[in-house]
Amino acid sequence: MKKVLVTGGAGFLGSHLCDRLIEKKYDVLCVDNFFTGGKENIRHLLANPYFELMRHDVTFPLYVEVDQIYNLACAASPIYYQSDPVQTTKTSVHGAINMLGLAKRLKARILQASTSEVYGDPEVHPQDESYWGRVNPIGIRSCYDEGKRCAETLFFDYHRQHGLEIKMARIFNTYGPRMHPDDGRVVSNFIVQALKGEAITIYGDGSQTRSFCYVDDLIDGILRLMESPADFVGPVNIGNPAEFSMLALAEKVLALVGGPSKLEYRPLPQDDPMQRQPDITLAGRALNWTPTVPLEDGLRETIAYFRRTLDL
Ligand code: NAD
Ligand code: UDP
Repeated sequence: MKKVLVTGGAGFLGSHLCDRLIEKKYDVLCVDNFFTGGKENIRHLLANPYFELMRHDVTFPLYVEVDQIYNLACAASPIYYQSDPVQTTKTSVHGAINMLGLAKRLKARILQASTSEVYGDPEVHPQDESYWGRVNPIGIRSCYDEGKRCAETLFFDYHRQHGLEIKMARIFNTYGPRMHPDDGRVVSNFIVQALKGEAITIYGDGSQTRSFCYVDDLIDGILRLMESPADFVGPVNIGNPAEFSMLALAEKVLALVGGPSKLEYRPLPQDDPMQRQPDITLAGRALNWTPTVPLEDGLRETIAYFRRTLDL
């Protein structure tokens, strides 16, 4: 039985990944410092003998024995990653060094959860993996964006210098059950606001776009990447190319939830990318992967989750 380490395993994506790995009969070690994740996301796994939870901060070295590593540890929500920007950079950079060192000692395959943020506010549209990005190195998003870019550099240097088996996933905006209700990301914000009958907060004029991938599709792509042949390392975009403006997203959420919410316009945060859409040709070719869940279906599942957990 393969032993798999998931860092950030108590978070939104990490907990879904743990679920799928347990289903696939892996022995899972979930490591998390509970900065943004929580035990409630993995409570249903705690009694499973093939699931183990360890409280640990990846900015410190970790000594465990595993066959594969998924490195997901890092707050993904702007509110949280900007609340302690130094820790955010440390988590990406020191975390990558520690997990790569572990992978090197164990000769374990290691996958990095990178991000579409490495493309910054892009001049090319849609973004394919050959695009180097347009990132502000000193802005309020830089701790996350540049931390993730440096982690990519470290992964590719360990690959070239030490022959490590790496896999680099560039994840685009993902949503679904177990998003934190107040982590500030747009899908959770809009749904919770609509369910509470509060104003829907549109930043800027709402014309900026994002492309939203449902969590089940995303995890499927990540698992395929980890299991792909050793000579395919990526980076590979994993996301849903269906692109929506924030206004269109607000309208969809309101149509599905109903209720009296009005739109309320707020200032656009600094360095907020104007458009974002993955070119997923490579994922199709190399992983035979394509997302299957349309936005409306995924929103329905997510709305049902928030209704249930928040009792709304
Ligand atoms: P999340 O905040 O729900 O999960 C991150 C997890 O990492 C949390 O459980 C948190 O407690 C843990 N963590 C943070 N710092 C840590 C540290 N120093 N040591 C140990 N654990 C730590 O976010 P998510 O949406 O599940 O994102 C998971 C990964 O995927 C992140 O690396 C993120 O950058 C990446 N990603 C996510 C998205 C998305 O849309 N959700 C998009 C691109 C990339
Ligand atoms: N956004 C918004 N209202 C909100 C939260 C976010 O209009 O209540 C916008 C935000 O300005 C950005 C988009 O939604 O343009 C996506 O934001 P999110 O934080 O979810 O992801 P990211 O900007 O990291 O892609």
